Amino acid sequence: DLFICSCGGTLKDASELEELSGFAGKLPHVGYVRTHSASCTKSGLEVLQSEVKKTLPAGVVIAACSPLWCENRFRAALSEAGINPSVLTIANIREQCAWVCPDRHKATEKAKRLIRAAVGRCALLEPVQCQQFQVNRDVLVVGGGITGVQCSLCLAEMGHKVFLIERQPRLGGHTAMFFHLYQGGSVSPEKLIGGMISRVEGSGRIKVFTSAKLLDLRGQVGAFTASVNTPRGPLTLSVGAVIVATGYSASPVQGPLSGSQRVTTLIELEKTLNEGQESLVLPWSSPHRLRNVAFILDQTSEQDKTVTGAALNDSLLLKRRFGCEVYIFCKNVRVAGDGLEQLYSAARQQGAVIVKYSDSPAVSACDSKLCVQARDELSGQQVQYECDLLVFADSLLPQEETERLARLLKVNLGPDGFYQDDNPWQLPVSSNREGIFFAGCCRGEMDIQQALTDAEAAAGSVHRLLGEDVITKDLDTASIDPDKCVLCLNCLRTCPNHAIQIDHEKQAAAVIELACQSCGSCASECPAKAIQLVNYTDSQMLAQTEPAPKLLVYCCEHSAYPAADLAGRLKIPYSDQASIVRVPCAAKIDLQYLVKDFENGARGVLVLACHEDACQHINGNLRASKRVELGRKILEELNIEPERLELRYLSPMGAQDFVQYVNEMVQRIEELDRRKG
Ligand code: SF4
Ligand code: SF4
Repeated sequence: DLFICSCGGTLKDASELEELSGFAGKLPHVGYVRTHSASCTKSGLEVLQSEVKKTLPAGVVIAACSPLWCENRFRAALSEAGINPSVLTIANIREQCAWVCPDRHKATEKAKRLIRAAVGRCALLEPVQCQQFQVNRDVLVVGGGITGVQCSLCLAEMGHKVFLIERQPRLGGHTAMFFHLYQGGSVSPEKLIGGMISRVEGSGRIKVFTSAKLLDLRGQVGAFTASVNTPRGPLTLSVGAVIVATGYSASPVQGPLSGSQRVTTLIELEKTLNEGQESLVLPWSSPHRLRNVAFILDQTSEQDKTVTGAALNDSLLLKRRFGCEVYIFCKNVRVAGDGLEQLYSAARQQGAVIVKYSDSPAVSACDSKLCVQARDELSGQQVQYECDLLVFADSLLPQEETERLARLLKVNLGPDGFYQDDNPWQLPVSSNREGIFFAGCCRGEMDIQQALTDAEAAAGSVHRLLGEDVITKDLDTASIDPDKCVLCLNCLRTCPNHAIQIDHEKQAAAVIELACQSCGSCASECPAKAIQLVNYTDSQMLAQTEPAPKLLVYCCEHSAYPAADLAGRLKIPYSDQASIVRVPCAAKIDLQYLVKDFENGARGVLVLACHEDACQHINGNLRASKRVELGRKILEELNIEPERLELRYLSPMGAQDFVQYVNEMVQRIEELDRRKG
């Protein structure tokens, strides 16, 4: 069935709908054509439902606005009417024709091309089936700092059994070392982490293993098997998901001052104060009594309010209990937080000197003391203070185990060595592997409140995934024909989500459906053509591009497709010679498509992918780029100018970029055609 929508009359004004209707009716596979003035409205959806109930079509094409606007609504309506929604294809004749082709005739001709392409694909679509997968609801939490403890408590409250493993002999992590914590006010560790640990110990759902180390993780989301080493011997745990909350390492004092008895870090000072030292004799200064203490904050980056709060608390303590003079050098005093302003005022009233610097303070030795100099931005004066003890705020580094764990869990690290969370398409707590999540400072620097919120987000994500004993998933995943597979393992190496395993019985690669995110990368890399992505099969892809338009534009659905849509909504005109093909990831674009498109009459092919580091499927854009390079070499061998094939990166908001790239490419094609005569 084919439905043409006039979108409240706007498409009628821009193109010849009757002509389109007549054209569509003559296309192969089309048995029924109907126009409607607003298909996505209640009455439009009712018409759609009543028609498909009568005709029971094998496929449905709706020529209307962008699928990004209305696809879900149409799918839901089809589903209600008893038609599998996966047989729907939308021809976007609004954003890609009516709103960007000012010439009515050209808009109509382009709309015909889009409808023909949609029908070609739709005729080959298979109804996608749903499958229920039994899953284990238990969760492994790696790391027993404040984040891991909070994750465990949240999960236990949601009814999950939790295995919490910590490599140290006790829970609490760095938080337990702080004497005073800033967390929505000043609270002691006993009140915060201590209370949380008691709740963990009292919970019947949380099993804690301290001095324990994760050695191996096998399986997939819903059914992982973890091998853990504990003081009582090796342990095997079966879980459905894993949360990594391994925290951070605090860097020791670096440079010429490292090893000096007069220099320490905030965490070391906190530890000593926490141990209840009642005298002024601190281990680093023995046997002197401390008189002057200087803090230097914000040296590597602006520190969070936990650090500011700890430094202010410590300075008050040093002044009140020990009568020390205190100097705090910082770039900014962060007092935006419950109780911090009062803490700051109290420290000032007690005589703490705050120096706001922009250039790092210089530290030198003078007699038996240290001397800190800086330009105070508030007074504009150069200031200099002597101190017996210099305290640096620690900079946070990835925890020592991070690389080993990342390899073991097969998850990505970001360029800073923390677990990757810089992909704008993934939830910050999600990893590249379904069922493995990150929480807290193992993702990068954050304060305690942020870490607690992160823990709740990670626990919530796990619960959304494993809330029930079963996960229902559409099988619109990759599938492998074991008879064609030659076990080259390309797919295993390619899959960004580790969703491919070896089926030893069949001696072939096999897709882990629950973990597959339907990017299509593996299908394009398989030399035996044993892999097809359901409803983006090679034949369905090629059916859309035969005959090919002058310029074929492959658009990644996460970046270029929304950018093209935005160009449509902004009504920025571009060449009517360009036709868009939507792909789940640029990595789905097979080398054979690129060559075939030229055989089918394309004069140029443009591949539009996400910006570097912004690919939803990790590195699909880079794979596409390599394939385009290869495609250009093949074109050269075929005596076709390689400049006719190009890849560009853009963002979902890049409407102007989209229009520019398309128009430039059309101009280039025309120039090359002219030169060729
Ligand atoms: S890439 Fe193809 S041939 Fe190679 S292992 Fe995977 S499915 Fe088999
Ligand atoms: S489609 Fe993507 S996620 Fe699925 S198995 Fe292939 S490469 Fe992995």
